[in-house]
Amino acid sequence: MGSQLAARLAKLDLRGPRDLLLHLPLRYEDETRLTPIASARPGWPAQVEGEVVSCEVVLRPRRQLVARIADASGALVARWLNFYPSQKQQLAVGRRVRLFGEVRGGFFGDEMVHPRVRAVEAGEGLPEALTPVYPTTAGLGQATLRKLVARALRSERLDELLPGDWLAQLDLPGFAEALKALHCPSPDVSPADLESRQHPAWRRMKFEELLVQQLSLRRAYLARRARSAVPLPDTRALTAALLDVLPFAPTGAQRRAAAEIAADLAAPHPMQRLLQGDVGSGKTLVAALAMLQAAENGWQAAMMAPTEILAEQHHRKLAAWFEPLGLELAWLSGSRRKREREAELARLQRGEVLLAVGTHALLEDPVNLPRLALAVVDEQHRFGVRQRLALREKGAFGQRPHMLMMSATPIPRTLAMTHYADLDVSVLDELPPGRTPIRTRLVSDARRDEVVTRVRAACLGGRQAYWVCPLIEESEALQLQTAQETYDTLVAALPELRVGLVHGRLKSDEKSATMAAFAAGELDVLVATTVIEVGVDVPNASLMVIEHAERFGLAQLHQLRGRVGRGTVESVCILIYAQPLSQTGRERLKVIFEHTDGFEIARADLRIRGPGEFVGARQSGVPLLRYASLEDDGDLIDPARELAEHLLAHEPARADALMRRWLGAREGLLQA
Ligand code: ADP
Ligand code: MG
Repeated sequence: MGSQLAARLAKLDLRGPRDLLLHLPLRYEDETRLTPIASARPGWPAQVEGEVVSCEVVLRPRRQLVARIADASGALVARWLNFYPSQKQQLAVGRRVRLFGEVRGGFFGDEMVHPRVRAVEAGEGLPEALTPVYPTTAGLGQATLRKLVARALRSERLDELLPGDWLAQLDLPGFAEALKALHCPSPDVSPADLESRQHPAWRRMKFEELLVQQLSLRRAYLARRARSAVPLPDTRALTAALLDVLPFAPTGAQRRAAAEIAADLAAPHPMQRLLQGDVGSGKTLVAALAMLQAAENGWQAAMMAPTEILAEQHHRKLAAWFEPLGLELAWLSGSRRKREREAELARLQRGEVLLAVGTHALLEDPVNLPRLALAVVDEQHRFGVRQRLALREKGAFGQRPHMLMMSATPIPRTLAMTHYADLDVSVLDELPPGRTPIRTRLVSDARRDEVVTRVRAACLGGRQAYWVCPLIEESEALQLQTAQETYDTLVAALPELRVGLVHGRLKSDEKSATMAAFAAGELDVLVATTVIEVGVDVPNASLMVIEHAERFGLAQLHQLRGRVGRGTVESVCILIYAQPLSQTGRERLKVIFEHTDGFEIARADLRIRGPGEFVGARQSGVPLLRYASLEDDGDLIDPARELAEHLLAHEPARADALMRRWLGAREGLLQA
């Protein structure tokens, strides 16, 4: 197999024939029958066969290949906007071809745009199974995938790993039967029935997947309990002192989460806990209390943040809390001068300083935390799995540190369970009091000038505003250019205001100087790219403008909007959108307009995007479930759990074989 092909397959996590077996089709096309051209129904996929009557490259309205195909019943036009020169030869007049595509009524009669085309001999046979369409990636064609899957089906042993009596009781087909039914379904099964994924063959595969999930959750849990970590008893020596000097009282939710964490830390095996709380719910305080519990016991704790801006802000906030208690806080980031950094590193290394905050600079080689007992990862979804693992390996004493991960992208609990192996979850479901709700406005970009006027009025009234530049995902260069242009335009339009600019490419000291100036009220308007998306906390900023809001994801919009509404004045978030809106763009804006609750938004996001993309497998580790969903297949979960317990207790070899089949080499990553 070529290395290029192997690389593309690896992108889909397909590393061998066994993985290909479990690469199940998204949908099917019915090429088992031919439809006479005259009876092809508009808007439905169909396969037709006919003779090429004409074929030419047309230049207007744009370059395209146009062919006319006729059978005994009628004729249609096929059109390709992108085509290879060889395609014209394939469509030479008089050739017999099969087209697969959707028929539409066009100006010149019925047509198919971009049909799949294949030259055939008269009377050539039709496939006997529905044609599967697989999830794929750029440069990897369906034909290749089909060939590879078919080969795997022939070469691999399709061993039954589930006990027969369980299958009979659940009324599920065997493994080999289910796989064949899904990869090469007979034409009398309706594609719709298969695509709904409630067909018994699908249920069988989803059950096996859920079973493997239960097995790996259970295994990961047992493995964690078998490891030792430094027990950090809750002496309250420092935590109580912090609560005494704090200018506010913790919310009930903060108290509950802090108590759950305190109990975990006191145990002699590593904590692995996710603290979920909406933007502004006060996760930092909960983390600070946990860090103090480590320090109380003479051990080190480190907090890692995804951006310089955020790390610095944490440093400022935590230092202000810790200093009155007589505790030093080391600050490690790329932006610090070498000499300061080295002195700090030496003191961390000697264990003289117990608390540290920083960016991924914390993971660099010279950083040594010999007494690290607690690692906190803020905005954990922004880190790769490997980075989180690396932090865990930092403590040099052979014991695992306790891990506290925090996220403001609320993941519904059931979803969290399916995407992270063995993780306890605490939730902050309450915002600190005294917040005024944020009003959200949707404004078409034709009315951008009114927004500028509004910014002027707010800032002259003593408020501050963020202006978030359009997101240009394809190109960082373009993104920077847009940010610079937005800045220039606003400077020109608002001569009476002090306008600043931050973006990802600024040097970190420039970035932090600008942020500090904004926080100190020395700037009225902060033009920013999404570098301000996470965590930035400037209570006097009460106006948020987001340009091209339709380009942002829901979680991002929610995060951005959460930058305001942190003080007592009423805050406004203005979402400027450009017409025409796509269907999902419209849906997203509607959700963000109607909802302020992060969990509600996360649920809507899940609905719009589907779970795979939602958690972002790339960032969060490999999702544990590819096919089953806790919503649709809830009835299979209990039996899966029971069978998992049974297998672990009585048939561990089967459990191993199942985990190898589904997880292969990925298992290690699931524990991060
Ligand atoms: P997030 O959960 O988004 O990380 P932060 O920890 O940044 O939220 O907290 C947001 C703001 O609320 C901060 O200014 C913080 O000091 C403040 N805050 C946290 N807890 C409380 C509380 N119980 N009462 C009042 N203000 C609080
Ligand atoms: Mg935060």
